[in-house]
Amino acid sequence: MRARRLTRLGLRMLMAWMIALLWGCASPGPVYRNSDGQVVDKPWSEVMAWLLQAWYQGLPPPPGRHLQGGQFPVIRDPEVGRDLPVDQLAVTWLGHASTLIRVGGQRILTDPQFSLRASPLSWAGTARSVPNPYALHELGHIDLVLISHNHYDHLDEASVLALSRQPGGSPQFIVPQGLETWFQSRGMGRVQSLGWWQSAEFGPLQVQAVPASHWSARGLSDHNKSHWAGWVLRAGERSVYFAGDTAYSDDFKAIRDRVGAVELALLPVGAYEPRTFMKDQHVNPDEAVKIHQDVGARLSIGIHWGTFELSDEPLDAPMATLPAARARAGLPDDAFQLLRHGETRLLPKEPMASD
Ligand code: ZN
Ligand code: ZN
Repeated sequence: MRARRLTRLGLRMLMAWMIALLWGCASPGPVYRNSDGQVVDKPWSEVMAWLLQAWYQGLPPPPGRHLQGGQFPVIRDPEVGRDLPVDQLAVTWLGHASTLIRVGGQRILTDPQFSLRASPLSWAGTARSVPNPYALHELGHIDLVLISHNHYDHLDEASVLALSRQPGGSPQFIVPQGLETWFQSRGMGRVQSLGWWQSAEFGPLQVQAVPASHWSARGLSDHNKSHWAGWVLRAGERSVYFAGDTAYSDDFKAIRDRVGAVELALLPVGAYEPRTFMKDQHVNPDEAVKIHQDVGARLSIGIHWGTFELSDEPLDAPMATLPAARARAGLPDDAFQLLRHGETRLLPKEPMASD
């Protein structure tokens, strides 16, 4: 037990050292910023203090308090590979920020992460705690992939390469500004980048990039060299907002003002403790509820939880903290929900009348 904790501390220290290098060795040239003009920047001392304190306190505690049998249930939906009529909308949670959206007769993936680890190393780093509910081929032909930013828990090289080689041809990848070269240099040519508020048409779909408050880095010299974004997807009367990774900010009221209320919002609810360290990059459930209200979502589904242990709260914490946040805000239980891994939610056929 002690050896495991020491190993985990060692690996976290290694990651912290790499983060420190990222911030210390950023190459010259322009960097992308949040909408308030700020960049997220954590001093090395703060990263180390967090990791040491988490280790000393044995954080995060193992999940299980809110799970029957101590395990996350994994759903195998036999219909997940089936095409839906063009006027229907369904979302399947695949774990973490990966979802399958079926709308407009198209199949769209958000931040596909199907690998064992969310890490630059195949042999070390944060391993998934819950298996993938589906093999890639079970999800059917993917038409479009939306990437929020380049962190390893959102942009997984093996997953996007596998998608680019799917039978029937590569999906269209849509990425934030500056990230297209990463795809092109790996031979993935069906990629288009969009700056915040820009939009593009893909068959029956309209895709629009919207702001988020976060940061980016994968290597030693690319800190904030590519942008981060949320995405609003429209097909006819139906609309979906995928927030990616974000802190709370005024961006969400601006999104409502510029794109109107959305039908379905996929909002992060995990990896939020300790707040002193995480509040500049990840919302907690109370802030996710505020985003739900700001963007005028009819239904929100919590993502970015329950799969990769990235922070100090237990992996199953949102099962208790999201309902509490929802109740504090006076939201009905069915307005903002969590799905089980692999579970599909089919939205009622009539899109909501947006106000
Ligand atoms: Zn991130
Ligand atoms: Zn993330």
